[in-house]
Amino acid sequence: MAGKVGSSSRPLRVAIVGAGPSGFYAAGALLQQKEIHVSIDIFDRLPTPYGLVRYGVAPDHQKIKSVTKVYERTVRDSRVRYFGNVGLGEEISRDELKSHYDQIIYATGASADKQLDIPGEELAGSFSATEFVAWYNGHPDFTDRDFDLSVESVAIVGVGNVAMDVTRILAKSIDELAQTDIADYALEKLRASRVKHIHVVARRGPAQAKFTNPEIKELGELSEADVIINPSDLVLDPASIASLESDRTAVRNLETMQALAERGATGKPRQIHFHFLRSPVELCGDDAVKSMRMEVNELHPTDTGYIACDGVGRFETLDVGLVFRSIGYRSLPIPGVPFYDKWGIIPNEKGRVTATHKGEVVPGEYVVGWAKRGPTGVIGTNKPDAVETVAAMLEDVNRLEPVSDEKATAQAIVALLQARGADYFTFEDWLKLEAIEDERGKAEGRPRVKFTSEADMLAAVREEIG
Ligand code: NAP
Repeated sequence: MAGKVGSSSRPLRVAIVGAGPSGFYAAGALLQQKEIHVSIDIFDRLPTPYGLVRYGVAPDHQKIKSVTKVYERTVRDSRVRYFGNVGLGEEISRDELKSHYDQIIYATGASADKQLDIPGEELAGSFSATEFVAWYNGHPDFTDRDFDLSVESVAIVGVGNVAMDVTRILAKSIDELAQTDIADYALEKLRASRVKHIHVVARRGPAQAKFTNPEIKELGELSEADVIINPSDLVLDPASIASLESDRTAVRNLETMQALAERGATGKPRQIHFHFLRSPVELCGDDAVKSMRMEVNELHPTDTGYIACDGVGRFETLDVGLVFRSIGYRSLPIPGVPFYDKWGIIPNEKGRVTATHKGEVVPGEYVVGWAKRGPTGVIGTNKPDAVETVAAMLEDVNRLEPVSDEKATAQAIVALLQARGADYFTFEDWLKLEAIEDERGKAEGRPRVKFTSEADMLAAVREEIG
């Protein structure tokens, strides 16, 4: 035996699956603690690191993306290695990770979307916001999506920050978008866009909107789009008024919406229309969406304090050629890893994976981020979330079943990947790719011009080396 697990001669070996914010915060928390020695390998299915920061954060929100500097510092630590282009269930299995690492952290996020479960949802022209966001951000799995932007009217269902991102991207001018790192093909497609009316549809009222203050304010500052809100929609019911006492975000959102409602149309070429208290009940059309039928709702407070909505049996139709449902994300199951389908997460107890919801703990397996708690919170929310999981991991070190000495080496996993012919991407490879993207961006006055195919990413870096 090489030494006690967590000693300098036998560091605790940890695999982190997923190189997004939650994975990096987990690595950061493991590096920061002083109790034990660690050795961390971070895997990602894609060659590129940073997950949601690269493929989820809106291209016109570059400041948020600077958080990657923190992640870069983490991975530059000598105790950390990066293996991109290595997918769990593809290049490596869960059992192989289990035999090479004392502990595994799943940081796989929530890449699938929730469904409305209404007739017509399968029609052409009906998409999830997830697909649209991944497409305009150049995610290699989504480059082939075809959004018909020759239509004049589009509906976005849901009023969270993702809905606001999608609204802005559809409403912004090409000059505004051309300064961002939006995928080149998306910029070209949006250049030809004929979208004039963007309908944002909320099932509850304006006091229950999930977007945050900066996001609604930003809509009011667009150069080419007016926001249209019916002032009478902002007259609140008693339960909503009472809820404002403990909700500063809602109060400020309402102030901004009030100002926007008063301003109304100013003659800009595009209009963003807010529809509150409306639930889609059917997408209509022969083979492609032509309209969306909605039921009018009313609000009623429940015993828990939650303000719910119910249909009142009155219906309206909105003529739209594209519908984006922006109603939340779900994790995808990973082969061999427990999954709680009802919530779309990996079941867990404070980050310890459990075999079933509220079931037995699975030793040595942990979860962080959206795969742990569901798709809520901003990027920074993942930091305390990761700290909680890492605390559980440290508590468990003394009772874990260590992997064999032979497999507990830094070289063992490299040998396995090489034997398998896996073309893995190191962090140095990523830095080279990033430098090429930055250089291409400089030439066009943009933060970067992204590679959007895995084959091109690998070729660009391999050619550079060769
Ligand atoms: P979200 O904030 O949870 O919003 C989801 C929206 O969908 C809500 O308005 C919700 O309404 C609605 N909805 C859910 N089920 C529905 C249904 N069956 N029919 C109609 N409407 C339905 O989720 P998100 O926008 O996907 O964002 C996910 C997380 O990422 C959030 O925490 C968000 O703040 C964060 N994010 C932050 C930024 C940023 O900081 N700029 C950008 C993007 C995302 P109800 O309230 O009635 O359920």
